[in-house]
Amino acid sequence: MVNDRSALYVLPHVPARTGGLVLTGAAAAVTCREIRNARPETVVVTDHGSHTEQIATVDAPFGLKTRWGWRELDVSGLNEVLDGQRDNKASCAVTPTCFIPNDRTADDAVLKAVIHQANQLRRQDTVVLMPCSWHWLERSHLSALAEQIRACRHPVALILQADGDPLERAQVPEGLRQLCRSCPRLVLWRTDLAAFDAMAHGALGAAVGASAVLRHGVAPRPGNGGGGHKPYPVVLVRRLLRYHRVATLQDWFAHIAPWTCDCAVCRGAALTRFTGSDADVVAALQHTVRELYGLHAELDATLPGDERIGWWRQQLADAWEYHRLLASQTDTELAFPKVLQAWRRPCPPALPMVGRRRAQDGPRPS
Ligand SMILES: [Zn+2]
Repeated sequence: MVNDRSALYVLPHVPARTGGLVLTGAAAAVTCREIRNARPETVVVTDHGSHTEQIATVDAPFGLKTRWGWRELDVSGLNEVLDGQRDNKASCAVTPTCFIPNDRTADDAVLKAVIHQANQLRRQDTVVLMPCSWHWLERSHLSALAEQIRACRHPVALILQADGDPLERAQVPEGLRQLCRSCPRLVLWRTDLAAFDAMAHGALGAAVGASAVLRHGVAPRPGNGGGGHKPYPVVLVRRLLRYHRVATLQDWFAHIAPWTCDCAVCRGAALTRFTGSDADVVAALQHTVRELYGLHAELDATLPGDERIGWWRQQLADAWEYHRLLASQTDTELAFPKVLQAWRRPCPPALPMVGRRRAQDGPRPS
């Protein structure tokens, strides 16, 4: 998942068969058309980012920011927007869903409105975006979320929003696993390495953000997306299964030989080499994309189910060893991250309530 301005830097490093791009930003549609014209075999879709602009309501779960202001979308308006994406050669259409909050009152009316309207779309080329507050992953709300995802006629792309990393919130890592195991056509969007945990546990696919702001959901608030700060290089350190600022790596490796990388961008060079120059920030991103697809190729080579989960558990065990090794070599306090700890725990069972009704509720309409 990448802003239209960075898409062309990332594109050469995206494998045609197993990769693809989710484009955000003002020129996403134009960029989508250009890329699909040049590389028709590459999967490219666009995300209007309505969830960063507006909160969904029962009456208006979908909407779009336009040059003339905010536009609420009924089913025909929604169809028009989705057709527009396909006219710009998007591989499939993605609903411009607004942000689905959770005020912890167990009211799932907005969630239901999203799925109810989406189910009125008579088309087979659409993914329904569900940008949700992380509270939906809490034990008390998870069944309601799972029930709506399973009721959807289209595949669902889930975005988890929190201030900071949603996967660090209580119950979220296990909730997400349960969701992936219980909902057969779920995709995780706007995420980080959680993509691999989700796919190991049954998610259809995932979209990992190229920049930190695209690695988790953002609640709508005035002035979002202002940006403007100078980018600094961040790299995925595959051995640690973590993103780190290069400055942090430079501190760690100040007195010992730095770790190197054998990806097609680095070709054996040190991970500490990236400076804050524009070219280096781009190269750091390209390295990260290569490493993500390297991990993905390994995942893709395993059989879904126990073998895939076993592969992922081994990656996590290796990461734990590398954290220990690095801490001892550099004599630094290097805590094993909370998220990775959570992923090392055993898998929770699939959700028992999903898709079932108590006998007195009567048969379910199909
Ligand atoms: Zn590299």
